[in-house]
Amino acid sequence: MNDNNLITGLIHSTESCGTVDGPGIRFVVFTQGCPLRCLYCHNPDCRHIENGKKITVGELIEEIEKYHSYFDYSGGGVTVTGGEPLMQPEFVKAIFQECHKKGIHTALDTSGYVQLNQAKEVLESADLVLLDIKSYDPEIYRRVTSVSLQPTLDFANYLAKINKPTWIRFVLVPNLTDPDHNVQGLAEFVAGLKNVEKVEVLPFHKMGEYKWEQLGYDYQLKDTQTPSPELIAKVSEIFKRNGLNVQ
Ligand code: SF4
Repeated sequence: MNDNNLITGLIHSTESCGTVDGPGIRFVVFTQGCPLRCLYCHNPDCRHIENGKKITVGELIEEIEKYHSYFDYSGGGVTVTGGEPLMQPEFVKAIFQECHKKGIHTALDTSGYVQLNQAKEVLESADLVLLDIKSYDPEIYRRVTSVSLQPTLDFANYLAKINKPTWIRFVLVPNLTDPDHNVQGLAEFVAGLKNVEKVEVLPFHKMGEYKWEQLGYDYQLKDTQTPSPELIAKVSEIFKRNGLNVQ
């Protein structure tokens, strides 16, 4: 074993055959710990890093290897998401480096609310970044996440500077993230990033609500409906009008 394989991290869980976090069939690692408090979070049990399960990179890679043939035939690979993976940059970097040694594609799903300096080395080993920009209006962003928008914009600009292939993800929540100026502002900002391959408009859902209740957290979106097909189409159209590839 080399040093990378001995590095430990704290994870929430893994999923062996994910299909929604990057291209193809993916082994998805959910890291533990997140500095955001998104109102719609479907993994609120990922919040506190100290609640994670300790695992070595070597143990993870051994598990990942079992699915190598699925990655090859589907154009898939490994996605590290969370929580916020960049709370554990050494761990994620080591996973990605070991994946690359085995010819496995790597994707990082992040909010971009991170110390850029700590993220840079991780990004060197990420083939793709899934960047969640949860709103463009700073006040809406803060209402949704409890943190400020600017670090995420700085992160997005850095990804453009290094020309890192990036997918932007935007969760559409009726009466929260759907105001036209919010979507239009985001579309214009993203249109200026030449590294962005596509935008994913993700409809709000309540699948994590029961976890909030189990954890005794106050779920404020109880009365919020999932977005209608018309609203999804309208918001997607705003991105398309700005020349973006939307899915
Ligand atoms: S960034 Fe993701 S894991 Fe963190 S609170 Fe928001 S939705 Fe939940």
